[in-house]
Amino acid sequence: MPAFAMDFHVITLFPQMFDSVLGCALLRRAISAGLVSITFHPLRDHGLGRYRQVDDTPYGGGSGMVMRPEPLVNAIEAVTAKHPGLWRVLLTPQGDRLEQPLVNRLAQRRTGLLLVAGRYEGVDERVRSWVDQEISIGDYVLSGGELAAMVVIEAVARLVPGALGNSESLAEESFSTGLLEGPQYTRPREFRGVRVPEVLLSGDHARIRAWRESAALKRTAERRRDLLERRDHTPRG
Ligand code: SAM
Repeated sequence: MPAFAMDFHVITLFPQMFDSVLGCALLRRAISAGLVSITFHPLRDHGLGRYRQVDDTPYGGGSGMVMRPEPLVNAIEAVTAKHPGLWRVLLTPQGDRLEQPLVNRLAQRRTGLLLVAGRYEGVDERVRSWVDQEISIGDYVLSGGELAAMVVIEAVARLVPGALGNSESLAEESFSTGLLEGPQYTRPREFRGVRVPEVLLSGDHARIRAWRESAALKRTAERRRDLLERRDHTPRG
């Protein structure tokens, strides 16, 4: 048994959307190794009446449908009654922006995460009182929270100890140091006239480390000055 496994629970109208992502690469391996578990709770099971209704027209008028509170809240309560302590997250474009520091904090939630995916024009406002946090994956609007939930799952799962083959790569990759990662190369040494920088072939680890640090700084300065400014204002140590 692994020392620590991360349990994800997802409340969704469309569990089948997750099949392709869970069937491949890191997540598939992490699930088979018992490092990650993902349980789906189909919202339709909590739908109302004969047609298992989950949405309704908005009070006050307006276009589209809004998700009713009863199915969502009943689903959240049913899952948390069985799995106490889950950190309850509503995916919404109005939530805290998902960035690496938030991913790191979510990965520390040892009791697991419950991800609630909205649909239609969003959820009845009262549902917000039944979650601990609202998370957005960026300033754009998707049709549903499923893809956003997958983004959270993949970003968090790769931080579970053992999930990534080489955990050193975590320490160096973009955002973990507050910088973008510098350029990466693999074989061949020369491709269509472009050669791999000589230093990377030198075998001199100190020089290679220094080159990578300065390449990461240069790349960040060129592409994401905001990260450098943020870094300058963040206390270290
Ligand atoms: N009318 C809502 C608004 O303006 O905030 C948007 C609703 S959106 C069409 C439907 C669902 O997709 C949301 O309830 C949410 O679960 C999900 N969603 C859309 N964009 C998202 C984003 N950027 N981050 C996280 N979830 C998102």
